[in-house]
Amino acid sequence: MPFVITDPCIGTKDSACVDVCPVDCIHPRKDEPEFETATMLYIHPEECIDCGACVPACPVAAIYDSTDSTPSTQKSLVEANALYRAGDPDAVARAETIVKAHEAAHPELMSLPPAERAAAHGT
Ligand code: SF4
Ligand code: SF4
Repeated sequence: MPFVITDPCIGTKDSACVDVCPVDCIHPRKDEPEFETATMLYIHPEECIDCGACVPACPVAAIYDSTDSTPSTQKSLVEANALYRAGDPDAVARAETIVKAHEAAHPELMSLPPAERAAAHGT
């Protein structure tokens, strides 16, 4: 089961997870053109090897260790992680559309500082 990045990454986006991922499956990297405009980062579910290195690296607990463990408030972002492909404008746009819809659907989470969102995710 792939690891999943969720909404505490929005507004944080510090790339700490990218720096520790052994298989370069988290995008966009800071050296990719999409980085500046990306709302958050995404894990490619077929490239992730489930090593777990990214979880303790994330300062805001944005990363869940499987789609099953991803809380219901964050489930739409599972698809965003799966869709995103650096260098594919259509895939990037589709993933970002899901993220924007998530933000609109969860003002209660978006109004919190990123570091406080994970505690409010629920189950
Ligand atoms: S679990 Fe490992 S392989 Fe998967 S995104 Fe995190 S660091 Fe990369
Ligand atoms: S470490 Fe966490 S907040 Fe930083 S880019 Fe990765 S998922 Fe986003």
